[in-house]
This record gives sequence, C-alpha cells and structure tokens, in this order.
Amino acid sequence: MATDTASPDNTEASEYVQPKIDVPALTALLDGRHAEVRNLVRTNLAEYSSVLEEAETMSTDEFRDRVRDLVVEMASTGQTGMGFPEQYGGGGDVGASIAAFETLAFGDLSILVKVGVQFGLFGGAILQLGTKSHHDAYLSDLITGKLMGCFAMTETGHGSNVQALGTVATYDAEAEEFVINTPDDASRKDYIGNAARHAHTAVVFAQLEIEGKSEGVHAFVVPLREDGEVRPGIRIEDCGRKLGLNGVDNGRIWFDEVRVPRSALLNQFADVTADGVYESPIENPNRRFFTMLGTLIQGRVCVGGGGINAAKVALAIATKYAARRRQFNATSDDQEELLLDYGIHQRRLFPLIAKTYALHFAQEIVAAQLHELSSHTDAPEEGENEHYRRELESRAAGTKVAGTWHATQTIQECREACGGAGYLSINRFDALKADTDVFTTFEGDNHVLLQLVAKGLLTDYASDFEDMDQFGMVRFVAGLAVDTVLEKTNVHKLIERIKDVMPGGDEWDQEAGLLDPHYQLMMLRFREEHMLGGVARRLKRGIDNDMNPGEVFSRVQDHVIGAARAHVERLVVEAFVDKVEELPDGDQKVALSLLCDLHALCTIENDRAWFMEHGRLTVQRSKAITREINGLLRKIRPLAVDYVDAFGVPPEMLRSPELVGD
Ligand SMILES: Cc1cc2nc3c(=O)[nH]c(=O)nc-3n(C[C@H](O)[C@H](O)[C@H](O)COP(=O)(O)OP(=O)(O)OC[C@H]3O[C@@H](n4cnc5c(N)ncnc54)[C@H](O)[C@@H]3O)c2cc1C
Repeated sequence: MATDTASPDNTEASEYVQPKIDVPALTALLDGRHAEVRNLVRTNLAEYSSVLEEAETMSTDEFRDRVRDLVVEMASTGQTGMGFPEQYGGGGDVGASIAAFETLAFGDLSILVKVGVQFGLFGGAILQLGTKSHHDAYLSDLITGKLMGCFAMTETGHGSNVQALGTVATYDAEAEEFVINTPDDASRKDYIGNAARHAHTAVVFAQLEIEGKSEGVHAFVVPLREDGEVRPGIRIEDCGRKLGLNGVDNGRIWFDEVRVPRSALLNQFADVTADGVYESPIENPNRRFFTMLGTLIQGRVCVGGGGINAAKVALAIATKYAARRRQFNATSDDQEELLLDYGIHQRRLFPLIAKTYALHFAQEIVAAQLHELSSHTDAPEEGENEHYRRELESRAAGTKVAGTWHATQTIQECREACGGAGYLSINRFDALKADTDVFTTFEGDNHVLLQLVAKGLLTDYASDFEDMDQFGMVRFVAGLAVDTVLEKTNVHKLIERIKDVMPGGDEWDQEAGLLDPHYQLMMLRFREEHMLGGVARRLKRGIDNDMNPGEVFSRVQDHVIGAARAHVERLVVEAFVDKVEELPDGDQKVALSLLCDLHALCTIENDRAWFMEHGRLTVQRSKAITREINGLLRKIRPLAVDYVDAFGVPPEMLRSPELVGD
C-alpha cells in the first residue's frame, strides 16, 4: 500500500477520492487466467537467480553451457512445453505457453531467448510446418531438451526478405533425397541461435528445386551434429561476441551437398512425391509462403510480451529507487527532496508505467486471440477464419513493434533516472539494455512489420492479401476509390458509431471532457483514418501520374509507417479503455483509470502538432491537455510504487540491492 498520502494539489476536493491499491489484487488482474503458470515461472526464476551474476562472471562458453543447462532444467518443470500437444508431453495450452514466456522475461534474457529458439522457433516450426511423422520423430525429445535445435531462416544476404533466400534444396528423385547447398557466402545462414554450439538439428529454410524448377521457400529438417561433431558437408562458424544475449550461441552455417531423406521436408503445406511431383493444396506460391510464415506468429507474440515485461523490471527498479533517493533541498530545509516528488521525474516515469499497463492489456488480447485460433475453441466460422487470421497476424506484428520499442525507450529512461547507479551492472540496466535491444530486429524488423500492418489496413485484409507484394498493394489501393479504402476499415465503422455518443456530433473535440474515453478514442480514430486516407490518396495520385509503383511506395513510405503507428497506438489505448470499463466500481477501477487517462492523453499530447495542423486541437485545448496530464501525475504519485509492485517481478530479479531496498 502507498504510505505517502500527500494530497495532489489540483484535486478538486469535491469528487475525487484518492484510491488505495490492493497490490496482490492488481497483480492477479494483470496475471489473468494464467496466474498459476506465471507463479510457477516466478518460483523457478527466484530459484535460479544466481544466473544474473553468472552472466557477468563466467566466460562466454561457460555461460552458454550454463544457460543451456538451465533451459533443460526448466523444461523438466513443464514450463517451456506448455504449447505442445499433450500426447508428446506438452501442456496443450498456447495461452499458458505465452504467459510462461512473458514471465521468463523478468529474468536473464539469454535464457528467455534460448527458450524462444528451442521451443518457439525450432519446436514451433516442427509442430506447425511438419506433419504427424515429424511430430512423432521429434516433439517428445525437443520438449525435454534432449534434442536441441535451431531455426535457420535468415541468411547474410537476406533477413527481412525471406522469399529471396539463396540456400537451395534440390530433389534427387533417384535417391529420394533432397540435396542442400549454400551457393555463395551471401546465402550462408547467419545469426542462427543455438547453431554455434548446442544444436543437434536445424530446421533449414531453402528454395526447393525440382528438375530445375523453383517451387519457393520450404523448410527441411537437417541434422547438424552427430556425437557432438559437425556432420560432413556442413560448416559452422560462431558469430562471436554480440551487443547482448551472450549466453546464446549464434552461428553461421554453410551446406555443401548435404543429403536428407524426402521425409525431411516439413510437409504441412506442400509435399514432393517419391518420383518428384510437387503437390500443394495452396496453388499460389506467394499465398503458400505467407500462410506458412503466418503459422509461426507465436514467436512474434512472445517477443512483444517479453519486451513489455522487461520494461516492467526497469520501471520497478527506477520507481522504487526514486521513492528512496533524495537530491537537493526543494520543499524543506531539513530534508532533501525525493526524486519521485520532482515533477519532471514523474513526467519521465509515470507515462511509461501507464503505457506498460496499456501494452500489457493489448498483449493480453493478442495472446488470447492466438490461443483461441490454436485451440479452435470459439474460433470464428470457416469463411471468416482467413480474415480473422490475417487480422491477428497484423495485430501481433503491431503489438510486437509497440512492445519492443517501448522496452528500448523505457529501459534507457529508467537507467538515466537512476543516475550513475543505473550504470552499474549489478543494478540490471546493463543486461536489460543490451539484451532487449535486438528485440526490435528479430522476429521481424519493426519498420518492416509496420508496413505489413499498413498493408492489412489498406487492403482490409483482402482475400488475395498474401498474394500481394508491396507493389501489388500499391496497385490494389490505387485501383480503389479512397473512400472505399476508408469505408472498409474497422476504424471508419468505429468512428461512425462513436459520433452518435459524442456531444456535438462532428464538433466533438470542442465539447467533450478531456477525461472522457470516447473523446480520447475519437481523437485517435480520427487521426488513424485521416492518415490512412492520406496514404491511399498519395498512392493513387502516384499511379495516376504513371509513376513506377516501387517509386510511389518509397515516396509514401513515411506516411505508411505513420498510419500503421497511429493504428497500433489506437488499438493499445482501446485495449486499456476496454479493460477499465470491464472493472467493477471501486478503488482498483479508479487507480487504473488514472493510468488509462494518462496514457491516452500523453498519446494525444505526443502528436499534438498533428492534431493542431488538422484542426482537431485548439491552442487552449492543447494547453489544457498538458495541465490535465500534470494533474494526473500528482494523483498517481502516491500510488506509483504500488503500480510497479503489482507487476510481480520477483525481488531476486530486481537485484539492485542498494536501489530498491528491502
Ligand atoms: C541476436 C540475433 C539472433 C537471431 N536469431 C535468429 C535465428 O535464430 N534464426 C533466424 O533465422 N534469424 C535470426 N536472426 C536474424 C533476424 O531475424 C534478422 O536479423 C532480421 O530479420 C532482420 O534482417 P536483416 O538483419 O537482414 O536486416 P535487413 O532486412 O537488411 O534490414 C536492415 C534495415 O533495413 C530496413 N529495411 C529492410 N527492408 C526495408 C524496406 N522494404 N523498406 C524500408 N526499410 C527496410 C529495416 O527496417 C532495417 O532497419 C537473429 C538476429 C540477431 C541479431
């Protein structure tokens, strides 16, 4: 409970009553339906907390082996196999497996990423892209960690553009084998987690060639090591020291005439008959490829959640420190001021706490939707299924982008908020910064993912969505009236609906209260729709002027990214508003409303120039938003430590003995 009961100076004495936070109850709300799983992981993290220190004291090789051993030990508790089918020793619960992964992000992030590589990427590829024979052959052993594997997709030459990979798998009908080759150095597999030291087996993505014809990228199971030795025809090199995550052994792989049996093709979406006939239920190669990739979104969902939880660790340390650390006499001659009582410190930390809550609830939605889709409970009707899946892919991409950029920004701000102490490795920011940095790049580079989000919005997740490359999308949008693009978007429908409930209809921005969630969402929906319309208009104009579609897209790209960001920001605010609305009246609802208002108003304030440029914010109203935010900060101040305690980061994971106290 908060002990500081200083009255916020702008509180209108009449209505507002400062709430009290029941921290365990708020933790329970955040933990949601997977509280038990999250607590199991918390217990395991606390038990193995010495790993945070070992990351600093062990040699790279020792630490990599230590991380591998811990991952295998954790596997024996069941926490890493929850997403796999029960008949192979898994838990049959995708939602639980995401919750377990997210919670693991409170601890050492090499362990998190090693788990992600082994069970999410390698295991996920076998599960999603393979069929029963692959499941029978590999799942039981990989779930226990007996079979260590890697996911070899990226090459030096191509990371984001996976369709352009250079590795080739040629079918030899006589031997009924595929022959895997790395044609040049740009086609060597690169950055592959688990490859440099521990993987026995890889899922390798390669261009399938049959009798000189390329069938596009497919995945193959390829053994890499036998009795600890790299197999003939395979060359592996260590990627060496990295900016972070040095407990993970990333490596490069070359293949020279490596033969694997026909059964090595993960044949969920396509197969090759013994005599070399290519068969797939999905005719269009683009669609086949994107359908295949789409099944792997769990990794993306997990990384987003991991980023959000890493941000919670940083905020817990910085907020608790600021509630103890004093600097300069400000309001008293006898005692220096607590950092947390400085307005600017509140301005730096509290919007980040609020955004963390918002992202947590947005992530909860993505995880629940993925769980539904995977378990087919409550899954939408057959016809809607494709649309639902595409929308989820887009939402997962957007939440990953928001969560991982938030982690990078928050950890840096929290490091600075702890001054020199924040720079010492024992206080965690060293590892948090270094290890989360790459979350913005792997599982899809954030800027590339935002373009995927925009493509979904502009095409309304059209049925030929997956067939379209960027330029196809430009042509598609250019072929529609701008109004058609907009009318199809969800945001347009929402705006129409909400206009009815806003005072003053179209004049809503002049009338509504700043703390009215309808007003806040209306602003964000208006911005999103306007930006999307701007993109559609610009694409259309370019094509109408006979410009090359690639050139048109490139010129409009900053607007594309802006529209996608606006969409994601709206979804995140909406998730928070919906969560608060669901709560019964009481202190918890009031406490979360404060954060929700702060997050929504900061989101508008951050882009106030745009809203003013577009006639949705007057100068007076813009200043009123800033005043309102400052008022909220003072109401939040007495509750700040409770908000971060409710994250439920185990004390052992905060480390920082001199910063957070007992
Ligand atoms: C530590 C680590 C672990 C990894 N683990 C694995 C693994 O286990 N398995 C695996 O297969 N891969 C792995 N990767 C690879 C990772 O997924 C890729 O690095 C990532 O997909 C980005 O690809 P790239 O590095 O080729 O960057 P690029 O695609 O070359 O991107 C470089 C920059 O160009 C920008 N860019 C790219 N395309 C466009 C465009 N169309 N428009 C505008 N801008 C663009 C991007 O935004 C980015 O800023 C790992 C990487 C790292 C660093």
